Amino acid sequence: MSASALTTASTTVPKQLVDRFGRTVRDLRLSVTDRCNLRCTYCMPAQGLQWLPGPQLLTVDEIARLARLAVEQLGVERVRLTGGEPLLRRDLEDIVAAVAALRTRHTGDKPDIGLTTNGLGLDRRAAGLRTAGLDRVNISIDTLDQREYATLTRRDRLADVLRGVDGAQAAGLFPIKVNAVAVPGELTERAPRLLAQCLRRGWQLRFIEHMPLGPHGSWRAEEVVGAQQVLTVLREAGFALTPVGRPDRRPAALWEVAAGSESDGQYYPAGRVGIIASVTAPFCDDCDRTRLTADGKLLSCLFGTAEVDLRGPMRAGASDEELARIWARAAWDKPRAHGTDDPQTISGGFTAPTRTMSAIGG
Ligand code: SAM
Ligand code: SF4
Repeated sequence: MSASALTTASTTVPKQLVDRFGRTVRDLRLSVTDRCNLRCTYCMPAQGLQWLPGPQLLTVDEIARLARLAVEQLGVERVRLTGGEPLLRRDLEDIVAAVAALRTRHTGDKPDIGLTTNGLGLDRRAAGLRTAGLDRVNISIDTLDQREYATLTRRDRLADVLRGVDGAQAAGLFPIKVNAVAVPGELTERAPRLLAQCLRRGWQLRFIEHMPLGPHGSWRAEEVVGAQQVLTVLREAGFALTPVGRPDRRPAALWEVAAGSESDGQYYPAGRVGIIASVTAPFCDDCDRTRLTADGKLLSCLFGTAEVDLRGPMRAGASDEELARIWARAAWDKPRAHGTDDPQTISGGFTAPTRTMSAIGG
């Protein structure tokens, strides 16, 4: 595609990413790779996926350019690096440093930079990432039981992950947030146990509802463990939960957890737990996110099927203004809602995106 063919009728250079429903983008989810060293059952098939060939991945310079456009021109204030497993990129520190050098249009501050990771290798990288400008990490740990972990991720790597968490703590990446998917089955036993273990370690646990973005055929609407069910299970197990602010302010609705009592052998300190109800109570009305895949495709909605290519135009020589216009147009077309909570949509056959979670960037 020639750069000139990209010029739109409009000559105005966009200053923000807004959609036709009045939402404004402030949060960029940047996937830096589609590869992964685990095979979580809810995310990837056992044999893995067809990885993107190296030349298709955005380079550090390309990521830096698009991040600069997003942050310094289009109003993005928070950048979250994800994948696949972002730590598999050896140049992740360079990516973080490039994003940390940016200044947001609204405050003139560095954007908030987060990393979502499975934690493997984080012990060796945390200090360098922190120095490069990383602010926080979310580490995915569905269970602290070695055997359960090996079954769920198809890799016996829990001990390595825990070393990674130690590394993150030693590097001062607080608070440690732990992501756990509320997979169907065994929740009644696993969720309370995991919450108590996280509270004892000072980690903030967030349950994520199982989304239809894993291997084909691995998700059934009727099996989804909804936020209300998770809350019920936790309360029945004895946790005293009080909503923090308005739990309807998504994405992570938060609950204050009162300390457990020592007398009944259930001691854990007070803390917080989050539940991300993307399926049963989607936060589409308040969604301020946009996504860029590792091969430079824009997705305005995690569940969206429409991808808009930025890498092609960028490599064909498009100017910043042209790229900004493409991005603004893609943002404008963001769907109002993804509809996973709509019984008709589900029974009529929810159209899942062609990419699975790891290839989108969760
Ligand atoms: N590999 C990194 C990790 O696991 O944290 C980052 C990428 S992973 C795709 C991002 C998040 O998506 C993880 O917290 C993971 O648990 C979550 N996830 C993956 N598949 C999911 C699904 N089908 N439903 C809900 N969450 C899912
Ligand atoms: Fe890999 Fe993260 Fe997907 Fe697990 S959830 S397979 S760690 S990308």
